[in-house]
Amino acid sequence: VDNLTTERRSQNMRRIRSAGMKPEMTVRKLAHALGYRYRLHVKDLPGKPDLVFTKRRKVIFVHGCFWHQHPGCREGRPPGSNSAYWGPKLARNAERDRTALLALAKAGWRVLVIWECETGDADLATRLRDFLGETAMQFEAT
Ligand SMILES: [Zn+2]
Repeated sequence: VDNLTTERRSQNMRRIRSAGMKPEMTVRKLAHALGYRYRLHVKDLPGKPDLVFTKRRKVIFVHGCFWHQHPGCREGRPPGSNSAYWGPKLARNAERDRTALLALAKAGWRVLVIWECETGDADLATRLRDFLGETAMQFEAT
């Protein structure tokens, strides 16, 4: 067993676990504070979206930068030390995400992806309000 690699991997796992619930909770609390009500983790929708606004036909995913491979993000880089292990795994995640987004769009859902590293942004509330407040008519008119 390569100790360095193992240590690096468990380090990543720890970071993911500890960060796991927090970004989603941030988004949930904010959406709630803005007056929006939602369902959580709807299993019968592609990708099991984190927040589902049924009447508005909108969903929000809160994606961990590492697991979901945030493009161009520091946290989204697969660890170079063990790319044989992480490479295919993370590629599958990203592929699953693409498939889910496509299926949702085809079924008429509007989708917002909020990356873990963006949940601390000052404009997060504005992004949520813009996305959720947009009406279907405004959307179709563009
Ligand atoms: Zn990121």
